[in-house]
Amino acid sequence: MKKSNSYRERIARRLTMMTALIILVVFTIIYVVVNYSVIENSDKALLAEVQDHLREISLVNGELIFLNKNEWEEAEHSQIQLNPIFIEIVDLEGNTMDRSPNLRGNHLTFLPDRASRDDALTLEIGDEEVRQIQIPLRHEGKIEGYMLVATSFEDSRHLLYNLLKILVVLYPVILISLFLMMRFMVGKSIAPIQIITDTTNQINQKNLNERVPLTEQNDEIGQLARSINSLLSRLEQSLNREKQFTSDASHELRTPLAVLRGTLEVLIRKPRTTEEYESKIQTALQSIDRMSEMIEQLLALARVGKFSNSDYLSIDLLEFGRNFAQKMSHDYARQIDFETNLTLPLEIEVNTKSLHMILNNLLQNSLKYSDHDSSISIRAGIHQGAPFITVEDQGVGIEEDSLDRIFDPFFRETQLLEKPVPGTGLGLAIVKKLALESGILIEVQSKKGVGSIFRLIFQEKI
Ligand code: ADP
Repeated sequence: MKKSNSYRERIARRLTMMTALIILVVFTIIYVVVNYSVIENSDKALLAEVQDHLREISLVNGELIFLNKNEWEEAEHSQIQLNPIFIEIVDLEGNTMDRSPNLRGNHLTFLPDRASRDDALTLEIGDEEVRQIQIPLRHEGKIEGYMLVATSFEDSRHLLYNLLKILVVLYPVILISLFLMMRFMVGKSIAPIQIITDTTNQINQKNLNERVPLTEQNDEIGQLARSINSLLSRLEQSLNREKQFTSDASHELRTPLAVLRGTLEVLIRKPRTTEEYESKIQTALQSIDRMSEMIEQLLALARVGKFSNSDYLSIDLLEFGRNFAQKMSHDYARQIDFETNLTLPLEIEVNTKSLHMILNNLLQNSLKYSDHDSSISIRAGIHQGAPFITVEDQGVGIEEDSLDRIFDPFFRETQLLEKPVPGTGLGLAIVKKLALESGILIEVQSKKGVGSIFRLIFQEKI
C-alpha cells in the first residue's frame, strides 16, 4: 500500500510541479501583456491631449501661457472630470510659467535629463500616481520651454493591482486542486496494480493454481496481469512435473531396493549351499546395477545445461556422423551404416558434447530394441534448408499412442516386449532436455514391428 501511495504522490507532485511552471509562465505573460496595453492606452490618450493643448499655448511678453485659461477654469468647475489632465508650462530651467488650475498646490516634476525625449513615464504628484510626458515648446525654431502633461494612472494601477491579486490567489488554488485531482486520478489508474500485488503476495506453493484477476482492457496493466498469470502457469506446470518426477524416481528406486532387501532376507534366514548363495548374490548385484544405472542417468539428467559455451563448435556433420557410426559399429559389433547423398561438407555450429550424448542415447535404444542381426543406419543431409541427422533401426517399433510419451521420464514400453529389455526410461528424457537446450528439434517416426526413425533437425538454415 505504502509503495503505490508514494508512487501516486510522486507522479502527482512531478506533474503539479511541471504545471506550476507552465502556469507561472502563462500568468506572467498575461500580466506583462495587460500591463503593456494599459500603459499604451493611457499614453495614447495622453498624446491626444498634448495635441489639443499645444494649440492653446502662446508666447506673451516672453512668457508661455494658456490662451483660454478662463474657459478651462470654468469647465473645471462645471463638469466632473473622470480622467483629469494636468498641464504645467516650465521654462528651460524648470521654473513654472503657467499651469492648469486642477493642479492646485501641486507641481509636475520637470526632468532636465529627459528634456529631449518625448515618451511618457510614471511619476507621482503628491500621493497620486500619474503618467507624464514632457514636450519641448518651440518658437521660431528655438526651445522656449516645456509643456508637462500628465494624466492620472490611479485607475489603471488599480486594475493592474486587481489582476495581480487574482492571479496570485488563483495560482495556489489551481495548483492545490490540480495536485489533489492528479493524486486521485493516478491512484485510480494504478489501483489494478495494487490488486495484482496483493494477489501475487498471497500466492505460494500451496495455492499456485490461483490467478491474478484480469482487467477487460488489453492495456499495459492488462498485459502485466496476463504475463504474471502465464508465468504462474509455467511455474505450476514445472512444479507439477518436478513432483511427478520425484515420485517416479523414488518409485523406480524402491523396486530394486525391495528386491535387494528380499534377497538378503531370504539368504539370512538359514544357512544355504554355495550355489544358492551365488545365485542370490547375483540377483542382489543385478538390483544394485539397476540402481547404479538409474542414479547415473538421473545425474546425467541433472547435469544437462552445465556444458560450457566452449563446447559449441563448428563441425562437419557428415564427418561427425561417419566417425560416430564407425566407432559404435566397432564397439558394439553391430552393422551401423552411415549414409548421405551430399558430397560437400555440411558445416553446423553445435554443442558437440550434447550432440554426441543425444546420438549415443538414440543409438543405444536402436541397439536395445532391434535384433542383433538387423542393421542400423545413421543418415545426414539437408531437408528444406535445414541440416539433419537420423538414427534408423528395423527394430520392434513404438505404439502410435506411446509416441507422445516416450520422452517423459521413466516412461517405458518394455512390458509389451516378449523379453524384458534393461533400461530406466530416462534415456529419451535426457535426449529431449539436451536437444531443447541446444536448439535441436527432434522428430520420431515409428511403426510397430517395422522400425523407428529418430530425426535431429538443426535450426540453422543453409
Ligand atoms: P529406456 O530405453 O531406458 O527404456 P528411453 O527413455 O530411452 O528409456 O526410452 C523410452 C521408451 O521408448 C523405451 O522404453 C521404449 O519403449 C521406447 N523406445 C525408445 N527408442 C526406441 C526404439 N529405437 N525402438 C523401439 N522403442 C523405442
